[in-house]
Amino acid sequence: MSTEDRTIAIVGAGQAGGWAAQTLRSEGFGGRIVLIGDEAHRPYERPPLSKSVLAGEALAETTSLQKPEAFDALNVDWRPRMSATRIDRASKQLHLSGGDVVGYDKLILCTGGRARRLRIPGSELPGIFTLRSIDDAAALGAALAPGKRLLVVGGGWIGLEVAATARRKGLDVTVVEAMHRLCERTVPPEISAYLLRLHASHGVRVELGTGIERLAQGANDAGLLATLVDGRTLACDVVLAGIGLVANDELAREAGLQCEGGIVVDPQCRSCDPDILAAGDVAVWHCERAGRRMRLESWQNAQEQGIAAARSALGIEVSHQPLPWFWSDQYGINLQIFGMPAPEHRAVVRGDMQSDSFVVFFLDVGKVAAALGPNAARDLRFARRLIERGTNVDASQLADPQVPLSKL
Ligand code: FAD
Ligand code: NAP
Repeated sequence: MSTEDRTIAIVGAGQAGGWAAQTLRSEGFGGRIVLIGDEAHRPYERPPLSKSVLAGEALAETTSLQKPEAFDALNVDWRPRMSATRIDRASKQLHLSGGDVVGYDKLILCTGGRARRLRIPGSELPGIFTLRSIDDAAALGAALAPGKRLLVVGGGWIGLEVAATARRKGLDVTVVEAMHRLCERTVPPEISAYLLRLHASHGVRVELGTGIERLAQGANDAGLLATLVDGRTLACDVVLAGIGLVANDELAREAGLQCEGGIVVDPQCRSCDPDILAAGDVAVWHCERAGRRMRLESWQNAQEQGIAAARSALGIEVSHQPLPWFWSDQYGINLQIFGMPAPEHRAVVRGDMQSDSFVVFFLDVGKVAAALGPNAARDLRFARRLIERGTNVDASQLADPQVPLSKL
């Protein structure tokens, strides 16, 4: 069969799906690409949704992966507002909401994840939001009026970025986090402590080690009343639940593909069915740097794994093993993280952790395994090279801001 006669279907028109479609064309695939997305929007990037778009400083359209003309030029059979509801692996057919059936030669699942919802009494009341999509950002943005009281449930990335944006918009903000430190799942204690100080210095109240037990309408319709698990109550007008992501792997699971909180794939992005691949937030794979199977919920991974999956679908040899990188912007501070810090690593601090610019290196037997810090883009660029090259380093030199990292 010539490539012109082949169909590659992509489910999920988000960041990974958009990159997969673009890569198929840039690699010369001349066949049919069907891109199914249950949102109304062309593929877009989500990071600005909690930052500039929520702040009202950027339009939602600016998040598009491709300009409309460039997207049209890809000549993709794009099916917006449509869900893939079932995969028939035996006949290699994909069933869509509305009854359409699409035959495929290769299928790439880029279904991402959805925001976990609060499941407590009162969680269906008006004024309670999650943030994942452009439409969510529009709804939350409209509710974040100056002077209102925002309660953020979850001190992870969504929670902290929305807290920072809301403070800039003049809201009163409280963050409630179940764990004993902020972003516990993704950053080491040094950075959790920095984030706590940063938010406190901007007037955010942070309650650690507690959760929300129930929500109720306030007396005389005056906003909402949240009851914490320790019995205290908090009055608020708006609640944002930033309590993590649930992978959209039901379609794959129902088709009998191996799933472990996401679709299990190999470094070639192939599931246990070699004609079905997966990429982005929904994909679970063995990350060599972490030494375990995991999902990597990041902009970088969505792009790079989307590209890798498209190449792999075309029979090009790939091995998806990125050096994990992500960032967060809060109050004008740019925090970046390279690699995967682990408790057994030795932490080495360069600079003053009480300031807004420093780096924490994580050493694994004399080599840098991870590096992170606020407002330290230049140092982190060099740190990235040290990680990638596996250079042996002297901890005292790393810690000395007078020693340029370029020398190491
Ligand atoms: P998604 O972008 O979620 O796309 C999946 C798409 O598939 C969705 O449109 C979904 O509706 C659709 N879909 C699901 N099931 C079906 C189906 N059955 N049929 C049809 N369509 C379906 N990362 C960073 O590194 N830095 C940041 O600063 C950062 N900020 C972020 C801010 C916000 C508010 C959010 C939500 C995420 C942020 N991220 C950030 C994470 C990053 O955006 C994600 O990792 C990335 O979007 C994952 O891309 P994806 O394509 O895998 O999934
Ligand atoms: P997250 O980073 O996993 O953080 C969620 C936090 O909420 C965790 O600390 C979690 O603790 C806590 N939590 C869970 N249930 C709770 C409860 N009932 N009460 C109080 N706290 C609770 O997820 P997120 O912040 O919701 O982000 C969702 C997705 O968007 C992720 O994929 C994230 O990577 C992405 N995102 C990324 C960025 C960035 O990289 N800059 C920015 C925004 C969003 P446990 O870990 O114990 O469950």
